[in-house]
Amino acid sequence: MVKVHDTTGPRPRHPEKAHKPDNPVRRKPGWIRVRAPQSRIWAETRDIVRKGKLSTVCEEAACPNLGECWTRKHATFMILGDICTRACAFCNVATGKPGPVDEDEPRRIATAVATMGLKHAVITSVDRDDLPDGGARHFARVIHAIREVSAQTTIEVLTPDFRNKDGALETVIAARPDVFNHNLETVPALYPRIRPGARYFHSLSILNRARELDAEIFTKSGIMVGLGETREEILQVMDDMRSARVEFITIGQYLQPSPKHAAVEKFWTPQEFKALEQAAWSKGFLMVAATPLTRSSHNADADFEALRKARAQGGASA
Ligand code: SF4
Repeated sequence: MVKVHDTTGPRPRHPEKAHKPDNPVRRKPGWIRVRAPQSRIWAETRDIVRKGKLSTVCEEAACPNLGECWTRKHATFMILGDICTRACAFCNVATGKPGPVDEDEPRRIATAVATMGLKHAVITSVDRDDLPDGGARHFARVIHAIREVSAQTTIEVLTPDFRNKDGALETVIAARPDVFNHNLETVPALYPRIRPGARYFHSLSILNRARELDAEIFTKSGIMVGLGETREEILQVMDDMRSARVEFITIGQYLQPSPKHAAVEKFWTPQEFKALEQAAWSKGFLMVAATPLTRSSHNADADFEALRKARAQGGASA
């Protein structure tokens, strides 16, 4: 059921990558094991998603944790359509010209959240550079809709960078999500190749700005490793995040979705992940998730609880 890259169908998922030379997909090492999605609860989650005509990043990004997460009734909803206006070299979400905003989507997301009984809902979106506000108003509407039907549910938004969209971040933060998450994705030196439509220091600045706008909000950011970065560059990103007062860092192994995507340069071992995790703790993050299969929304519910406790106990925070 996971949608995979397909260049043979009527419309390739990534038309802008079609002319690129193939990067052979490397065999995954033994420590990266993906559980096949099959269980009663997994099927229930799938049915709720289908019935609500919703998109999830779990499927669109071909996430390796889908079987595990959906079996725990944890899915990350992707709003504003399933076509992205950026063309990042690592991402499996389809690219092209998106359709109009679905004004009924906030209601359907809220219904799904209530039906699933989610304690913590994670909402992300495609990039919508075509919209004047980058989709910020729609994010706010989704947050309000969830609050209306499920007041106890905590809400985490994982947003695009809203580059060149004045007031967009302010609109999202004014809706008072519990967690503001924006991924830096990779080290600055790799942005031109991996995330050409984004700017590292802009992404960093919106994380800092989110805390300026709302000192109570929790901020979170993540990177993938395996794209050619060095350990020193990763440590520098950690320092940059702490300077921007980010409290929660996620670090996971990049997995190549298709031969047209950026190649995996290295599979970081579980021991190397452990060392990165320890380095991150030492830099003062309140919460750290760093394993090969860590994704920014993986275990987001339990991790948010831990993050909240850490702050309540007076953990380090810039
Ligand atoms: S890690 Fe996130 S994107 Fe992946 S399956 Fe779990 S909830 Fe979905």
